[in-house]
Amino acid sequence: MRWCKKCLEPDTRPDCRFNDEGICLPCRNFENFDKIDWDARHRELDELVDWVKSRKQRRQSGYDAIIPVSGGKDSHCQALYARDKMGLRVLLVSLSYPPEQLTQRGANNLENLISLGFDCFVISPAPEIWRQLMKIGFTKFGNWCKSTEIALYACAPKVAVQYHIPLMIYGENPALSWGSSGGSLNGDANRMKYSNTLDGGDISAFLEAGYRPKDMYWHRYPSDKVIERSNLRMIYLGYYIKDFDDINNGRIALEHGLEPRTGEDAILEDIGQVTTYDALDDDFVIVNQMVKRFKFGFGKASEQLSGMIRAGEITREEALDVARRLDGKCAPRYIKSFCAYIGISEEEFWEIAESFRSLDVWKKQGNEWQLKVPME
Ligand SMILES: [Zn+2]
Repeated sequence: MRWCKKCLEPDTRPDCRFNDEGICLPCRNFENFDKIDWDARHRELDELVDWVKSRKQRRQSGYDAIIPVSGGKDSHCQALYARDKMGLRVLLVSLSYPPEQLTQRGANNLENLISLGFDCFVISPAPEIWRQLMKIGFTKFGNWCKSTEIALYACAPKVAVQYHIPLMIYGENPALSWGSSGGSLNGDANRMKYSNTLDGGDISAFLEAGYRPKDMYWHRYPSDKVIERSNLRMIYLGYYIKDFDDINNGRIALEHGLEPRTGEDAILEDIGQVTTYDALDDDFVIVNQMVKRFKFGFGKASEQLSGMIRAGEITREEALDVARRLDGKCAPRYIKSFCAYIGISEEEFWEIAESFRSLDVWKKQGNEWQLKVPME
């Protein structure tokens, strides 16, 4: 295991690309940030708008673009930018979590976004299958998000194809922002489905567990053929905008009424994050970040801090202290409610979670697990 010399990114992240000098892809991308011709990227975006407006298919629904949203900070920024700066007629699509998983804060934020003047298509999957698929994701992959992420990404292109909407707008290109694969190193998001997270939209593990394709309509990503035939273009908006980053997006969204974490849900040591305006709609994700650290040695805090180091908000030295304190932290109350939700005991939880701990990354020192190569 190596840590990027410039930020706190480890080379254990799936698909990560370090160069010979031990620098991660997002840092290398950021080195050239000042040399990027932003005007040229804006022209590309203008051409895209012309292309959208010339599409005959948009006459059928009247929408130019579809944006998958959770209601968080990036959702707010994408929707406002597409409508107010690009002049697009936008349909938002939100795959809502079942009531037991969705936080009140998450519901308020989606409501706030819609209240800013958007049409929104809300899909609420049946809670029981949703929950069981999460349980399979957790027990088989140590990742309860496996099924939910596939559904979150698959639902919007489905709606776009159905309603003849020519453009779909994602936020950041994951390859450029945090180093996992996103299908391209530019603004083209049409290959997003083949990212490590989505794995081509593969749902075979769930079918093997006895679920039928018809139980998983919203999890089934449209085929490449269907996307191609519908002429649907997908972009990473973040690629085209200079200040599309966590800090700016957080600020803009808060100005537009985003509700951040408050009270005990904002205690950084409990949530393993550096900010209080991230992952607002769901607290189980904190559990997932902890287990992710068992597998790969890094959590949400170090990922956020790496972005802040690149943006010059914090030095690497200062960030190290914060990351050591916060990375992978998850208050017991979130684990407790997660176990109650998917129907396992806390004992079972720890047994499963620990079975995914990588011995390439961790060693036992007395009773304590320690990283073999500590963040340094
Ligand atoms: Zn780096």
